[in-house]
Amino acid sequence: MSSSAAAPLDAGIGAALRRLRAGAWRRHLLWGVLSLVVLGLLAILVWLARGHEIEQVQRALERDSADATQVLRERLARNVQDLHGLGSAPGDPAAWAGSAARLLDSHREWLRLQWRDPALALRAEADSPFHAPLPPDGPAAASDLERACAQARAQGEPIYAPSSFVLRGGGLGGEVMTLCAPLRGTSLQGFVVASYTLDELLRLLPAELTRGQSVALTELDGTRLAVHGTPRRGARLFVVQQPLELAGAPMLLRLEGARPLPDVFPNVLTALVTGLSMALITVLLLLARDFRRRQQAEAELAEALAFRKAMEDSLITGLRARDLQGRITYVNPAFCAMVGCAPQELIGQSVPAPYWPPERAQEYGKRQALRLAGQTPVAREGVETEFVRKDGTHFPVLIFETPLITAQGQHTGWMSAVVDMSAQRRAEEASRASQERLQASARLATVGEMASLMSHELNQPLAVIASYANGSLNLLQAAAGEQAHARELRTALERIAEQAGRAGKVIHSVRDLVRERSTARQAVAPQALVDTVLPLVQLQARKLGARVQVDVAPDLPAVWCEPTMIEQVLLNLARNGLQAMAEALGARVLSLQVRVLAPAAGQAVLEFRVADTGEGIDDAVAEHLFTPFFTTKPEGMGLGLSLCRTVIEQHGGTLRHATQAPRGTVFSFTLAAAVG
Ligand code: ADP
Repeated sequence: MSSSAAAPLDAGIGAALRRLRAGAWRRHLLWGVLSLVVLGLLAILVWLARGHEIEQVQRALERDSADATQVLRERLARNVQDLHGLGSAPGDPAAWAGSAARLLDSHREWLRLQWRDPALALRAEADSPFHAPLPPDGPAAASDLERACAQARAQGEPIYAPSSFVLRGGGLGGEVMTLCAPLRGTSLQGFVVASYTLDELLRLLPAELTRGQSVALTELDGTRLAVHGTPRRGARLFVVQQPLELAGAPMLLRLEGARPLPDVFPNVLTALVTGLSMALITVLLLLARDFRRRQQAEAELAEALAFRKAMEDSLITGLRARDLQGRITYVNPAFCAMVGCAPQELIGQSVPAPYWPPERAQEYGKRQALRLAGQTPVAREGVETEFVRKDGTHFPVLIFETPLITAQGQHTGWMSAVVDMSAQRRAEEASRASQERLQASARLATVGEMASLMSHELNQPLAVIASYANGSLNLLQAAAGEQAHARELRTALERIAEQAGRAGKVIHSVRDLVRERSTARQAVAPQALVDTVLPLVQLQARKLGARVQVDVAPDLPAVWCEPTMIEQVLLNLARNGLQAMAEALGARVLSLQVRVLAPAAGQAVLEFRVADTGEGIDDAVAEHLFTPFFTTKPEGMGLGLSLCRTVIEQHGGTLRHATQAPRGTVFSFTLAAAVG
């Protein structure tokens, strides 16, 4: 978790989830609009490109048609001049025909040249060497020719008669247009009549104008008269018509052209635009796929986030993350509940943390600085410490800390799991209290037993005291003042003092046992522990006719323990041993032994052994030995050994038992020697 996550995680994840969900439909809409805009743009581009291209073709065609018209006009005008030259000096018809024939050699568009007099009678004529000859009366219908010539005469300029279809030799035919040019000297001298074949007229056009397109001459109503060239196939056809204003026979020059490429890629521009459009659409599709995958990933992420949030919310363990500077970057609800602070009060906080007890803030600060500097090893088994709630109550916690490592292996901080130990401590305290109560009642039970033994035991010394006292009195009475009795009297008084001391010790031991002493642990010499219980043990031993053997090595180190507890354990074990010997035959010896075990890792360990020569423990009993309330004795409580074990384990030691050769049992427990 990065330190930028300054917002509380709850709000952070919640907001992220909401953003993811709300953003989904808006993104869909945006994508839809973007696709529509791009498609619209592309359509407009293609349409514009097509329009542009069509316009280009149309313009080129118009240019061609204007050029063609110009060429034809110029050629026809030049032809008129040639005809004028021919007819400027008509005289001899034969000579005229010769000149006309020469002229025809260089004009394939003419079929025939005639010289007619003002009354239109034929004076001379010559036919083109390139074409089949026209019928003799041709070319034009007489009426058309008359009308044209009359108009030519009237206007004094050449006039064309409307074209007509003329069948020529070899089954061929074609449209023929006739020109009637007046021959003027001082007066009208006749007419030169020239017959044009329209097909050849079109062939006069330069080849580049007819390549890939057709040129046609049509009448004003569209009737086609002559065509030259063929437009390209399979393409859109473009038509341009241009009037060819010939006096007397107006015609249209019609150019039909086609676009050179199929419609889909009419030209480079459209092809480019189309290519770009396709690339754009491909990119859009790829983006859409990427978008879909992204959405899927987002949905999965949202699910994972929701899952994580539910998990974190349901945890009862507090979670807290800190960055490398010690600032809190994340806390879960359990942690907030534990310390009684809202997430906002914790996130971003550094040293001292709001949940540190103010009086220990300095100590905690030092500890944290050490950890941040990487000088403390990661405590996998947890560190016990104390936090304080917002209301000021202190509570114990157990903290497990692990480093936060990113996917790239970068160490970004620490994640801690914090367990509130209050409940556990309360339970431990309760169990400890109940154990103490149990021990107290066990002690009282022992005391009851002791009291009866004591009354029996005290009888003896008291009887001895009484008899020595009586003896002393008698001695005093019988031989008052006599020196011989003085020594006996001293002996009697010594005995009295001795027996009174013994009775006092017995009473002292009982008082010591019953009295509540400090439960604090302290360094105690093993001998002192044994000495405390010894009078009571001996008391019981004497009753059973058993011998007590004490073997405490000299110079033993002190043990670190609660003396009352350990004395109680020794007493319990000794009493069990004595009771086990009650029925046994042979020597009854209870041995109390303390020795040092081979020191483990520097610290000495002492072993206390309580051995008896009793009946031993059979396997069935051994199994339940430490089970509370397990007893084989009619008056037993079955709590002694279970309590002993608890006490020894609380002191960090172990309680064991073993069979002793040749008879009996050894109970042994270990305690660590006090350090220093
Ligand atoms: P209690 O003495 O009240 O019966 P304990 O927990 O001290 O309770 O002992 C449980 C049982 O273990 C005893 O009843 C007895 O049968 C057995 N036991 C304990 N110590 C010895 C021993 N030294 N020798 C034989 N049996 C023993």
